[in-house]
Amino acid sequence: MNLAHLLARSAQNTPDAPALALGDTVIATYAEHAETAARLAGALTAGFGLQPGERVAIAMKNAPEYSEIVFGAWHAGLSAVPMNARLHPKEFAYILGNADAKICFVSEDMAEGIAEAAKDVPTLQHIVIAGSPRYREMVSADPVKIVDVAADELAWLFYTSGTTGRPKGAMLTHKNLRAMNDAYFANVDDIAPEDCIIHAAPYSHGSGLYMLPHVERGACQVVPASGGFDPDEVFALLRVWKGATFFFAPTMVTRLINAPGLSAADTSNLKTIVYGGAPMYAEDCLKALDLLGPKLVQIYGQGESPMTITALSRALHTERDHPRYHDRLASVGPAQKGVEIRIADTDDRELPVGGIGEILVRGDVVMKGYWDNPEASEMALRGGWLHTGDMGALDEDGFLTLKDRSKDVIISGGSNVYPREVEEVLLRHDGVLECSVIGRPHPDWGEEIVAFVVPKPGADVREAELDALCLEHIARFKRPKAYRMIDALPKNNYGKVLKTDLRSIL
Ligand code: AMP
Repeated sequence: MNLAHLLARSAQNTPDAPALALGDTVIATYAEHAETAARLAGALTAGFGLQPGERVAIAMKNAPEYSEIVFGAWHAGLSAVPMNARLHPKEFAYILGNADAKICFVSEDMAEGIAEAAKDVPTLQHIVIAGSPRYREMVSADPVKIVDVAADELAWLFYTSGTTGRPKGAMLTHKNLRAMNDAYFANVDDIAPEDCIIHAAPYSHGSGLYMLPHVERGACQVVPASGGFDPDEVFALLRVWKGATFFFAPTMVTRLINAPGLSAADTSNLKTIVYGGAPMYAEDCLKALDLLGPKLVQIYGQGESPMTITALSRALHTERDHPRYHDRLASVGPAQKGVEIRIADTDDRELPVGGIGEILVRGDVVMKGYWDNPEASEMALRGGWLHTGDMGALDEDGFLTLKDRSKDVIISGGSNVYPREVEEVLLRHDGVLECSVIGRPHPDWGEEIVAFVVPKPGADVREAELDALCLEHIARFKRPKAYRMIDALPKNNYGKVLKTDLRSIL
């Protein structure tokens, strides 16, 4: 079934319910949202001549039009290519060319840069600014019916943020996203029609994908007026919007709980923060639970298995008297609905419980392959399992703990050291805001461990104290041999720490 039916059904069931809002203002009901999508679909096909199966690129900051465009594209049997709004024009050009998109919707302030970059992309024919007169013309075209699509047709071409190399387009089909949607209700949260999602994180990534379960339940999608994440704006929106869900990268959770405005804020309208995409340290998680209450759910996923490999539920976050509570909090939880997980060695042989190896994933949520890249698809999906590139171990209860990506493992004196383990210990220090641990070449040991530490403003963090913490909690060989105090960690657009950049400033 075409995902566009989710919107059409909610429009039938609750036509007058708020569907889209900007800041505190509702700008479309479900009936209006569905009609816009149907008209946009008409413009894309009858007007622009796009054929089912073609790609509609989106280079936009968060805006209510995002949902209109995605549903409009699906309605017409087209697929969306959401691009991170903070990419470099050359990266946009690469994706537009690689995806062979004929049309790209852009935010007004990005139009010029994209137009310039797109000069090198002969296949791109139209650049339309969301909300512009041309856009308004499109959304008044004659509506068309929802085009039938097969379950394994492309819906969302997601270019992996990749911290190295060229991005690859993970082909997510209607079936994949439906599986993600079903798993949301089974393992992440339920949603009532009166609830909402506030897109303070990019539409092009997890927050945008979570429009699906919210649209299915007829809940409102709210875009902050700033289009992004600002703790004070989040607190202000929570005065207006009830039952609010956010998808946050862990760094956003820590920024929220460290925000000066939190003590005066009323967070009773905050329903759920789903976090994931990068490690959340147990210490930060405990602090967030203390300050916000039982409102956290963690997910582990990747572009190739969107938002859906494991989940650590709200209940698991709160079972403080469980004997393995701390370990569970440092894990990413058990497999989500419809997902099988296997830990394998380098020859793809399954490892016993507790063994550390690559995380392999199988299920309806796993991508169809990489766009126009059969070798990479074959490599990633060999043997019928998605090879995530992440290292991890399962415990006897099926809880998965990530042990960093294989390339991040430090091998010192023949022993593997997983940076995450060391980082968890350093974060126990009250004065440490963030840290990241990497290996640097060493003539005798192969690699030795270096910790980059960002102290909290005004905090006095002594190396001797950090060293003492390590001696108390982890094996001696895992202790950093050097500490570097820095003001901030280099991160990519989605908040992931760029270890390659850290290596270059060693
Ligand atoms: P992306 O494809 O950009 O969504 O990045 C996915 C990668 O982020 C995964 O392969 C993991 O390395 C990492 N990741 C995702 N979720 C988590 C999580 N809950 N904890 C730690 N790392 C995560």
